[in-house]
Amino acid sequence: MAATPPGPDSAHRTDRAGAGPAAGDPVRTDPVRTEAVPTDLIVVGGGPAGCAAALTAGSVGMRSVLVEPAALCGKLRHIPALDNVAGGHRTGPDLAAAITADIARTPLCEVRLGVRATHIAAGQDDVTVTLDSGGRLTAPFVVVATGVGPLPPERAGWLTLAAGAEPPALWGASAQAAAGPLLVLGADRPLGTFLRAHPEPATEVVVACPPEDDYKAEEVRGDPRVTVLPLARLRVTGYKASGAVSAEWTDRTGRTGTLRAAAAYLNLGSAPAAPPGALVSGADTYCPPALQHPRVLVAGDLRSARFQRIMTATGSGAEAALRAYYVAQGLSVPAAL
Ligand SMILES: Cc1cc2nc3c(=O)[nH]c(=O)nc-3n(C[C@H](O)[C@H](O)[C@H](O)COP(=O)(O)OP(=O)(O)OC[C@H]3O[C@@H](n4cnc5c(N)ncnc54)[C@H](O)[C@@H]3O)c2cc1C
Repeated sequence: MAATPPGPDSAHRTDRAGAGPAAGDPVRTDPVRTEAVPTDLIVVGGGPAGCAAALTAGSVGMRSVLVEPAALCGKLRHIPALDNVAGGHRTGPDLAAAITADIARTPLCEVRLGVRATHIAAGQDDVTVTLDSGGRLTAPFVVVATGVGPLPPERAGWLTLAAGAEPPALWGASAQAAAGPLLVLGADRPLGTFLRAHPEPATEVVVACPPEDDYKAEEVRGDPRVTVLPLARLRVTGYKASGAVSAEWTDRTGRTGTLRAAAAYLNLGSAPAAPPGALVSGADTYCPPALQHPRVLVAGDLRSARFQRIMTATGSGAEAALRAYYVAQGLSVPAAL
């Protein structure tokens, strides 16, 4: 691939991972500097989808810059048991380490850790990604693979939290044995992962399940340690520093009651973590690839509430990079990709 020619303003690196301006660089007052890193592809997000995009890009000779605010494949590090991933990896940390090693072996991928994309702009000839460090990257294509983050409690219409109540997320919960039942707010998929990671028979879990989560609760209904409460509303009325909570519930027939638990965890589901700018959202707030600017390629969990799996994330990341490659080569790309 031909190098992206540096623009007239593109003489500096200013993000945390880069060097400062070199001697002889033009002096500018604008704190935002466009970088001259010659690259064919910017990858935003270093989960399985972003890493697969960078690996695939490298395999066809494309240079990439991958930006990630935390660690590569950080989410995988919270998955204690895996049984649906090819390659023999049985835990998330094991797979994360393998992918990280693969990226480190890819000379065409420059990884920028500790850097978050704050804006993406797409033009006729290139895309520009603004970083929270004040730097700005430009390339012919961007793969956006920023995944999903936790749905904030204020967006769960069925749930009200007492002032000061900040239950932690279930997916990041450590293996704490609590004296008394755990209240899980919502029946999203991390519930199954949590139960597999905590096989102790004494673990007692009460799941506050709104109607929209009924189908997800099926996965755990057979577990004798789990009580699923099909609710219309739940109000957490008391929250102690120890994590203990009290709550008032209303079921779907209008009956009401109260419950107490040793600890509560949020498990409300996810919301797409799209950086502002060029990304186009669908009615469900996700960013389907088909709606995007031709130079903006979306991969992984950010695409849809469905298909949120490691294997689909990696496949879509690889496809996104190949799409960029074929378009750059002037080759046609099948519409289905
Ligand atoms: C508890 C739990 C258990 C799971 N178990 C399984 C399982 O057993 N099997 C399975 O197949 N899947 C499982 N999943 C789902 C799987 O983890 C995801 O489908 C997969 O990680 C999606 O990959 P991704 O690259 O699209 O997104 P992510 O892995 O979420 O990666 C997105 C990355 O983008 C970064 N990012 C976000 N915003 C920005 C920004 N503005 N700028 C730059 N970077 C940004 C994030 O820091 C993150 O590293 C599980 C998920 C959870 C939470």
